[in-house]
Amino acid sequence: MRWVNLLQPDLILGQSVVGITPEVLQAKGLKGLILDVDETIVPVGRRKLDEDVQIWINDIQKVVPISLVSNNVGYERIRQIAEGVMLGSQPVPFVASAGKPSRRKLRTAASNLGLPFDQIAMVGDRLFTDVLAGNRVGLFTILVQPMLEPNSKDPKNLLRSAEFWVSRQLGVTLKSVP
Ligand SMILES: [Mg+2]
Repeated sequence: MRWVNLLQPDLILGQSVVGITPEVLQAKGLKGLILDVDETIVPVGRRKLDEDVQIWINDIQKVVPISLVSNNVGYERIRQIAEGVMLGSQPVPFVASAGKPSRRKLRTAASNLGLPFDQIAMVGDRLFTDVLAGNRVGLFTILVQPMLEPNSKDPKNLLRSAEFWVSRQLGVTLKSVP
């Protein structure tokens, strides 16, 4: 498969993860969500979700199962975030040190949802990790706007912009829906 296809998100949201509504899921035939953590549901370094994200997760979990797959090597922090995403008495399943765009851990997390892969969305803020890994595994891929601290000087912003630039040169279409 050509690179351009592997880097092409199936859906690009012009807003953060909270823009993923039950209507969006239904329109795309999606029955499960795998969420990247850093800058997808929480700014880097934080251990607690913002209230609007917490509300979104509570609501969306009533519709579809969720699992977290992070490249962050800080196992304890990812565990704490997962515990903040309880539904009933169970924390959501999570994976730290996932090594995206490697397929192995993402494929396992997707298998654990017990759904056809094309009915699972990999949701993330990065093309070269989240989208690439999701497409390699055969998931539906959703690129969301990053969740950053105000006035963030995170060097990953530069990296993200570079990925977008390279991807556009390769022919990836990065036009978002509102
Ligand atoms: Mg991220």
